[in-house]
Amino acid sequence: MNEERHNWTKEEILDIYNLPMMELLYKAATIHREHHDPNTVQVSTLLSIKTGGCPEDCGYCPQAARYHTDIEGNDLMTVSHVKAQALRAKASGSSRVCMGAAWRNVKDGPEFNQVLEMVRTINKLDMEVCCTLGMITENQAKRLAEAGLYAYNHNLDTSEDYYKDVISTRAFQDRLETIDNVRKSNVTVCSGGIIGMGEKLEDRAGMLVALATLNPQPESVPINALVAVEGTPMEDMEPIPIWDMIRMVATTRVVMPKTQVRLSAGRTEMSREGQAMCFFAGANSIFAGDKLLTTPNPDVNEDMEMFRLLGLQPQKAFEKMPQPKTLDEEESQYEAIGERPKWSRPGHTIERNELAKQKSKSS
Ligand code: SF4
Repeated sequence: MNEERHNWTKEEILDIYNLPMMELLYKAATIHREHHDPNTVQVSTLLSIKTGGCPEDCGYCPQAARYHTDIEGNDLMTVSHVKAQALRAKASGSSRVCMGAAWRNVKDGPEFNQVLEMVRTINKLDMEVCCTLGMITENQAKRLAEAGLYAYNHNLDTSEDYYKDVISTRAFQDRLETIDNVRKSNVTVCSGGIIGMGEKLEDRAGMLVALATLNPQPESVPINALVAVEGTPMEDMEPIPIWDMIRMVATTRVVMPKTQVRLSAGRTEMSREGQAMCFFAGANSIFAGDKLLTTPNPDVNEDMEMFRLLGLQPQKAFEKMPQPKTLDEEESQYEAIGERPKWSRPGHTIERNELAKQKSKSS
């Protein structure tokens, strides 16, 4: 049995990534079967509860206020709207709702209280609840845990080395600190990244080193292929070959045997055969629904047809971990402490991000 290891090196990971394809697939599929049912895939629905207007400068993101993209911004959704969407997602086979807000970090106050209420509401529908709200403090993670949060997503995006070429408004270390804060609660960690942003293979391996050497490793690792959106600094990036996605999924499976590896953004560009290879290589989670926050995604019926073809079953909620208990607001042990943490702002310059910003101003 291949167990979780926390001392992976970049060289070892590169050796796995570069194995002959059949060797890599066999290795990954074998490890996958040791820890998971290969015919079960977890299905999540991603819901953008607050869209656009983000102060950050992530080079891949159409929600950054500084770039000129076509997305329609929205204020924070109401709890009843979120509940209606969650019920729809549940009816179409999703076991998890992941709520994303385009914030740099969570601020204590009415909006965070509203998110806590959304978490309580969805947990009471017997669905797994995940949030991705930017950087959070330990106190905020614990308040989310009390509300019944199952997972917190905070992607590392890429390697520490390449991070400086993608984002200038916060540091890689801030990402790790948020993950650490989540770990201090009993919320599970979801963290992965994006390939196809112009990174080297060493960066893909570097990102996997950063994730695999966390102890414990993240319970869930999304692997995204960049969706190059017009108006962002990465609008001209060429799509990555499917083989890169398959290699990345397989390598993730080998170095993180127990984690749920999630096929995330970029699935609309992948054939069913390509996705089937990814499932064979160890992917066991997808996002369902026709939108991933703001970028396109295959529609639910297409996915269910693919599941039927491949004989895959959606995973039931709480199969990997028991349902967290929801404490109502009045039972809470943690108060809002209005902490103003000093998250970094490295503020270096990334040429393509600056160019996209200039272009946006002049359009
Ligand atoms: S990825 Fe998140 S933090 Fe970065 S610009 Fe987009 S919404 Fe903001």
